Amino acid sequence: MTTPQETDLGLSLEQSRSGLRDGHRRSLMRTLFLVTGGALMVFGTLQFLNNHLLLASAEFLVSGLLFFGRYRIRRTPNLERWIYGYLISGFSFALLILIVPDASITAYVWILMIPVLSYLLLGKRAGFRLSAPFLLAGCVVYAVSTSLGNVIAVIDLLNLVLCAVLMLAFVHIYETRREEAEMKLFTMAQSDFLTGLANRASFHSTLTRTVAECARSGSGFALVIMDLDHFKVVNDTMGHDAGDQTLTRIGTLLTERVRTTDSVARLGGEEFGLILRDLKFDDSYELVDELRERIARMEVPYGDATIRLTASFGIAHFPEHGRSAETLYRVADRCLYTGKQSGRNTVVRAGVSAVRAAGQPSDRRTQS
Ligand code: GH3
Ligand code: MG
Ligand code: MG
Repeated sequence: MTTPQETDLGLSLEQSRSGLRDGHRRSLMRTLFLVTGGALMVFGTLQFLNNHLLLASAEFLVSGLLFFGRYRIRRTPNLERWIYGYLISGFSFALLILIVPDASITAYVWILMIPVLSYLLLGKRAGFRLSAPFLLAGCVVYAVSTSLGNVIAVIDLLNLVLCAVLMLAFVHIYETRREEAEMKLFTMAQSDFLTGLANRASFHSTLTRTVAECARSGSGFALVIMDLDHFKVVNDTMGHDAGDQTLTRIGTLLTERVRTTDSVARLGGEEFGLILRDLKFDDSYELVDELRERIARMEVPYGDATIRLTASFGIAHFPEHGRSAETLYRVADRCLYTGKQSGRNTVVRAGVSAVRAAGQPSDRRTQS
C-alpha cells in the first residue's frame, strides 16, 4: 500500500462492456472522421469539376464538420453522444444512397459495416439495439427499391439478408465471448487466488473510492489491518498446506462476521485488510475486538492436529485519523506495529496517545 494505485477496477470493467475502451474508441472515431472527411473532400472536388456546385458545397461542408469532429473527439466528455451522432447519421446516409436512382449495387456493402462499427464502438447491448433496426431497414429498402420480379433479384435480396444476419450473429457471438473473457480476467486480477478475497490492488481501489464517497456523504468508516501472530510457526511445524488452509479459514471467518457492504481483502502473506462502513469509532473497536476473540477461539483441524492462532489488529478511523487512503493506511499500519510490539493478540486503535495493554495475552485490547 506504500505505492498507491489510482486505477479504478470498477470503471475499467464498466468500460469493457462498451466494446472498446475509451482511448481506443476515441482513436477509432478519429480514423473514421479522417477517412470519411477525406473521402467527402474528394467526392466534393469531383462534383465541383462536374459543375454540381450545390452538391459539392454540401460535401465540402460535411467534410469540414467531420474534420472538426476529429479534432473535438480527442477530449470531449460526451464521447457516447458523438459516437451515436456519427453512427446514426452515417447509417442513415448509407440507407439514403440505396434509394438514389441508379445507385451502384456495391453500395450495399456499406450496410454490412453497420454491426461491426456498432459493436466495436457501443458494445454488445447498445450495438445490437442500433445495428438491428438499421440492418432490417437496409434489407427493406433494398426489397422496395428493387423489382423482385425475377429469380436473380430474389437471390440478390436473400444474399444480402443472409449475409447481414450472419454478420450480426458472428459479431454478437464474438463480443459476448470477449466480454466474458475480460470479466474473468478482471475478477482474477482483483482476487486473491488462495482465499478468493479481494487482493491488495482491489482493496486499495475500494479504499480510495470509500474515502471519496464518505467525504461526500459525511459518514465515517474504519480501516483495519490485521496480521496473524507467529504464522511462520504454523508453516514450519505443520507444513505450507496447513498454513494455506488456515489462511482460507481466516478469510471465511472475517467475511462471515462483517456486513456485505464492508470489504475484506488479503493484502499479502498473512496480512488482511477490512473496511467497515458506517461505524462509529467505538463500535468499530468493539467489532474488531470480537474478531480478535473469534480468531483466538478458532480451531483448524489438520490431520490429527489442531491449529490455533491469534492475530493483531490496527484501526484507523475516517475522518478522525486521516482524510486520504495513504494517511489512514499509514496510521492503521503503525497501530498494528504497536500491537505486535506490545505482545500480539491485540487490537490497537489510533487516537489515544498512550499505549495501553489490557487483560491477559488471550484478551488484549490496546489503544495508541
Ligand atoms: P508476526 O507475529 O511478527 O507477524 O510473525 P509471523 O511469523 O506471522 O510473520 P513473518 O513475517 O515472520 O512470517 C510470515 C509467514 O507467513 C512467512 C510465510 O511463510 C508465511 N506465508 C506468507 N504467505 C503465505 C501463503 O500464501 N501460504 C502459507 N502457507 N504461508 C504463507
Ligand atoms: Mg504475522
Ligand atoms: Mg506479516
